[in-house]
Amino acid sequence: MPKLLDGRPLASRLKDEIRSKISALGFNPLLVSISVGENCGLSSYANAQMKVANELGISFRLEKLPTDIGEEGLGDFIRGLNNDKEVNGIIVGLPLPEKIEYKRVSSFIDPIKDVEGMHPENLGNILFGRSRFIPCTAAAVLELLRESGVALRGKEVVIVGHSEIIGKPLSLMLMDKFATVTVCHIATSEAGMLIRHVEKAEVLIVAAGRAGLIKGEWVKDGAVVIDVGINRLGGRIVGDVEFEPASRKASFITPVPGGVGPLTVVMLMHNLVKACKMQR
Ligand code: NAD
Repeated sequence: MPKLLDGRPLASRLKDEIRSKISALGFNPLLVSISVGENCGLSSYANAQMKVANELGISFRLEKLPTDIGEEGLGDFIRGLNNDKEVNGIIVGLPLPEKIEYKRVSSFIDPIKDVEGMHPENLGNILFGRSRFIPCTAAAVLELLRESGVALRGKEVVIVGHSEIIGKPLSLMLMDKFATVTVCHIATSEAGMLIRHVEKAEVLIVAAGRAGLIKGEWVKDGAVVIDVGINRLGGRIVGDVEFEPASRKASFITPVPGGVGPLTVVMLMHNLVKACKMQR
């Protein structure tokens, strides 16, 4: 039987560490989460941010802005937060209205308040192996890999999904650990090559957002499997990997829910504490 890579106990351990770092700071950090648009109620991610912030003694402020604020207006608003010494971290919630481009907006955030690690300067630092803030989901995956104890040097690592928040930064960081990294995406599937790559993976990280994309029988014996996917299927939350059959082959596997998810928001708070220290 594989070992379950359960994110919950790990998240709770990391929260204890963050709590003690916050008490050493001597003040309660302030995290501001921006939500733009008509349906800008609290998303489940923002809800989780608020809950964990409360648990850790972090002040959390949700700023709801109207759709017609536009990119320029949002930029001005963010610059106001950049100049506010009380604000330690800034998050821009997704989705944004159509006319506002997230890539541009993330560049408005002061890089030392960019706790999601999406400012071009922070992403660029990852390329140089000098990451300041690692995008939270990618950081959560790294924590789980560390927890599994897998030695990455020389390992065949296959990442399915090449988004800016997960696959792209992870591929760079895992290369820096001397893993042999293959990144697959939609065109890999279109070419009928996904199975070929997945079958060789000693470490398999899947972040595609397609329920059951990875068949259990594709998983290599003894592989470490990290399933980042979150899909709603018949009233349940499932990952991108067929859990039961994959469990029979893997040495370690994350459950969905309960694997990567609980750690993502904790890594955000980890970045926030780092940001507070840098701002001093
Ligand atoms: P995205 O849509 O930005 O990227 C999806 C990636 O998967 C792309 O690279 C795309 O080419 C690839 N892909 C899509 N269909 C594919 C297929 N059939 N075969 C191979 N590759 C395919 O998504 P994202 O924001 O990176 O999120 C990916 C998944 O991770 C989603 O399910 C999302 O909900 C989940 N997620 C989880 C957490 C967490 O904390 N657990 C955080 C963020 C995202």
